[in-house]
Amino acid sequence: MQVAKDKVVLFHYTLTDDAGTQIDSSREGGEPLAILAGQGSLIAGVEKALEGKSAGDKFQVTVPPEEGYGLRDEGRTQRVPKKYFQDGDKLKPGMVTVLRSQQGMHQVTVVKVGATVIDIDANHPLAGKTLNFDIEITEVRDASEEEVAHGHVHGPGGHHH
Ligand code: ZN
Repeated sequence: MQVAKDKVVLFHYTLTDDAGTQIDSSREGGEPLAILAGQGSLIAGVEKALEGKSAGDKFQVTVPPEEGYGLRDEGRTQRVPKKYFQDGDKLKPGMVTVLRSQQGMHQVTVVKVGATVIDIDANHPLAGKTLNFDIEITEVRDASEEEVAHGHVHGPGGHHH
């Protein structure tokens, strides 16, 4: 069975940046990641690379920022009063925290901490990076009607609810 829209795909991946530094790997947790193909749950570059592949396939894919987490937008760096952060006094440069605004919650990276203000970067931490994925597909199966209706996978590697 090949990966196509509304197939459930289980796969292991190791993600490294261009310097060869490992950013993330499903192998550390042991369980492969389970996704419903064609639902936009993955970055475009990986979704595209999985299409047409089968269980047992091993391959590498290099994803440019445009098909990954987007380009960095320097306009998304801001100075914010410390009082808007729940954990403002504990933050240090490089840490990822949550900022509340009228638009909701945002994951941001702390750039600089002042006495009353904090400079943050609202870009995704992987924005602007070329990403190298090492992928091994372990299973491809049909999704159940319920999984298609929910837009996600149930069971191992997926949602439990
Ligand atoms: Zn569900």
